[in-house]
Amino acid sequence: MFKVLNYINGELIEPKAGSFLENYNPAEGKPYSLVPDSDAEDVQHAVDAASLAFPAWSAMPVEKRSAILQKIADLIDRDLDQLALAESIDQGKPVKLAKVVDIPRASANMRFFATGAIHFSSEAHITGQEAINYTTRTPVGVVGCISPWNLPLYLFTWKIAPALAAGCTVVAKPSELTPMTAFLFSKLCMEAGLPNGVLNIVHGLGPKAGQAIIEHPNIVAISFTGGTITGKKIAATAAPMFKKLSLELGGKNPNIIFADCDFEQALHTSIQSSFSNQGEICLCGSRIFVERSMYNRFVEEFVLRTKKLTVGDPNDEQTKVGALVSEAHMKKVLGYIELAKQEGGTILTGGKQVKLNGRCADGYFVEPTVITDLDAFCRTNQEEIFGPVVTIMPFDTEDEVIGYANSTGYGLSATLWTENLKCAHRVAAQLKSGIIWVNCWLFRDLRTPFGGMKQSGVGREGGWEALRFFTEAKNVCIKI
Ligand code: NAD
Repeated sequence: MFKVLNYINGELIEPKAGSFLENYNPAEGKPYSLVPDSDAEDVQHAVDAASLAFPAWSAMPVEKRSAILQKIADLIDRDLDQLALAESIDQGKPVKLAKVVDIPRASANMRFFATGAIHFSSEAHITGQEAINYTTRTPVGVVGCISPWNLPLYLFTWKIAPALAAGCTVVAKPSELTPMTAFLFSKLCMEAGLPNGVLNIVHGLGPKAGQAIIEHPNIVAISFTGGTITGKKIAATAAPMFKKLSLELGGKNPNIIFADCDFEQALHTSIQSSFSNQGEICLCGSRIFVERSMYNRFVEEFVLRTKKLTVGDPNDEQTKVGALVSEAHMKKVLGYIELAKQEGGTILTGGKQVKLNGRCADGYFVEPTVITDLDAFCRTNQEEIFGPVVTIMPFDTEDEVIGYANSTGYGLSATLWTENLKCAHRVAAQLKSGIIWVNCWLFRDLRTPFGGMKQSGVGREGGWEALRFFTEAKNVCIKI
């Protein structure tokens, strides 16, 4: 079977212990490649390579560093079709979605931070007639970047691009469930002439290879995207070691629809924000709140359109909802649908596993599911499900819906639909979420800070903030 390899010190190599895990194609429910089951020894090798590469990479003129990273972006664009297919096979998403979202956003990440680093400047503060302060920012050293399976190359590059652009060297681990695009990416790095050891990709399990990265004393900063429970473990290990930490974690995002909204736009986008990528986007709006006067109309139309979504082979152009990433995840999602029933929910459509014919007969497909009649505080509405499952609830007042929206432990994103400008500002100001979208969803400007409040994470990794995260500030104060 095809073997994914680690990328360490500029070479594609097997893990030292020679041990591999099976990598599944979730649309077929079958293993299709092997992925290294790396351990602390492989991480040590990667840290050694990154430490050796750091002095030259961090001292390289930023224009030169930037040119290499931009070249990688160009190569991602060149290999769009191959990368999109690989991402779909690993993760289960429709190839079409990977082609228009995941892969273009991956090259955009590389390009944004590569060019941003050229324009990055530090500050000076003049203290009246008494002193001049200037701040220097130097790359922090060898850093660890760990990413999840839901948007594999997009989130992998989101972590490593600012680190590399800032002049750090990196030990990175993609999810063991979706290693293929990171593997292809390592080949692009070699082709682009990235110096040996600047980026090292160690594949393997979280508690083994991932934990070894977090614990390594020479890794001075950790940028992590994944679940809140994993984030807690990482913080518990890294905080006493005084590592810099950026944690982008789970969400349970509200989608608030006021009766004065543009109905068609709200409906159309809400279908996307509920079911894109099988609902496996941390920013999906899984709790829909609709103003009571429009509730029945919205629910009726929403259910009609949900029923029309084609669940199918990710290779098929017509497919809107592909496979969930793994059997374990599918069982978790189906378990939450059962919980919703126990909590008194009504399943208006969906609720079951989908059995397809042909090559996808054993795949992990779940019907897009719409649930009503639950209150905002039950477990179904408080815990992250991360699948094609949404609940819809009515509300009467702004204060009431703000209370519902803010009632979970999460605070990643929120969406608002209204044509009333004052209402939009008022509600946005009171929502405890890192991003609020008004009359849109998933729109991104990479210059803005990104990340969650509360248990959705710490550190806002966008624009300059991400470049700053990977640097260490020093103030020089000169008395005049
Ligand atoms: P996960 O936490 O299980 O795994 C994420 C990564 O962490 C994987 O690479 C995994 O191998 C690694 N890992 C696991 N245990 C580890 C440990 N002890 N030490 C070091 N690394 C470890 O998350 P997942 O299931 O891959 O991804 C889904 C989650 O990610 C969801 O909760 C989703 O909301 C969240 N997410 C958040 C964002 C965001 O931007 N806030 C974006 C995407 C996904």
